[in-house]
Amino acid sequence: MVNAKYVAFTVNKQTPFLQTPDQAYATVINCRRPGGKRAGLAHEVRSHNVPLAMVEGSLKRKRGDESRKDSEHAANPAASFGNDATPLTAAPARPLLNQQWQQRKPTRLRRGKILSKGVDLDCWFIILSYSDPAQLLEMRSKIASCYRFLRDNPMLWKHSRVYYYGTDMPDPPPGLTEFQFAHLRHGHGCMDCGAPNTRKTFWAFLRRMCKDCLNTQVIREYDAVAQLRGPNGEDVSYIRAALPSGIFDSWGNFVGVGPASTHALKTIYLRSDVQKLVAEFHKESNERDPNTEETATWWTEWLADKAKKVEERQMFAKKMEQWEEMQRTARTSDYTAKKLRRKNFFKEKASQLDPPISIKELEACPAYKRAITIPKDPNSTSWDLLKPKIVKEAAENAAKRNMEESRPATASTSGISTPTGSLDGYPHTQPYLGMIMGMPPHNGMY
Ligand SMILES: [Zn+2]
Repeated sequence: MVNAKYVAFTVNKQTPFLQTPDQAYATVINCRRPGGKRAGLAHEVRSHNVPLAMVEGSLKRKRGDESRKDSEHAANPAASFGNDATPLTAAPARPLLNQQWQQRKPTRLRRGKILSKGVDLDCWFIILSYSDPAQLLEMRSKIASCYRFLRDNPMLWKHSRVYYYGTDMPDPPPGLTEFQFAHLRHGHGCMDCGAPNTRKTFWAFLRRMCKDCLNTQVIREYDAVAQLRGPNGEDVSYIRAALPSGIFDSWGNFVGVGPASTHALKTIYLRSDVQKLVAEFHKESNERDPNTEETATWWTEWLADKAKKVEERQMFAKKMEQWEEMQRTARTSDYTAKKLRRKNFFKEKASQLDPPISIKELEACPAYKRAITIPKDPNSTSWDLLKPKIVKEAAENAAKRNMEESRPATASTSGISTPTGSLDGYPHTQPYLGMIMGMPPHNGMY
């Protein structure tokens, strides 16, 4: 495939393979934009122009199709040319040229108008490999064509992950595909009961579970040891080295990847892992001659191999837990910084109002207090939303202050209303309530 644009180059003479061989000689494959200073050249060689974009298959080429087509051509070249009616030979000269000019018009993007020209799969690969893995997951589950494309291109997931998260994130352990890895990171829902809001992935078990399922699926080390028995009931608890483990604290909360190293913490295993391992142990025991040197060596290797895999998994799980912790910390500090920027922005804007609202007045406004708890960068829209509210609230606060100042000293409510007001964050509420109901604010009531 020629992967160049806006260039014209000459194809060397070659053996004719078309029905009208003269076209194949010294043909100019012209990918240059029409018009401009060089248009003269296009005019010169017009009759030999081969519009590259019109070569069959260039638009609808699918992955894997190329080799299949080539082999078909090789097997029966005459038949395939006859049937395919390649545009190079079959299309008449004038329409071909017209098509060519039409093709070169840039695609116009208009709202509400569906593009007639599709995007090549190669382009999709590039676009998607720079997309957020979380978005890829969404597309995979909601768009049928994306599902197939993402399923058939595992490298896309890796590219997307590395592009988005860099090398801080560990590679998936053996046995976990890039898609599964992405699904564990960004997916939703308990993988056992399907509870939709579950987000927590237990990396030690490579599973996302809700709390209830975790509690029913895992068993403590003590119970697991009781189950780890050979075919004759002998204790084979040493094979627990082949089990992925997590840790519970003394309240039964999951704290991380196992095994536990202190008394206060308890090692846990997945019940299904324990059952599977015991079954495998029994099966292998039945197939082997016991009490021979060879069998003993085999068991050692069997366990070592499994233990190594578990160790790899635990290493990976630890790294993922650290990575998640890092993300959380980064997010928290990011939110704090955003809230601070919001505060400063609103203060500055309020001071520029006519009349300006001072910092003290602003801080007394409930709308402002609510606005600065939002972890988002401020902008003119957020200010436009906030402005009318704080203007109103500041005016109300000012009116309330004036009223309190003009009130006779004996009617002071400072002992009652002020502390209450500052507690609920709405200092104006009570006096205003009184005014609305036509009563003086708490005069002589207490
Ligand atoms: Zn569940």
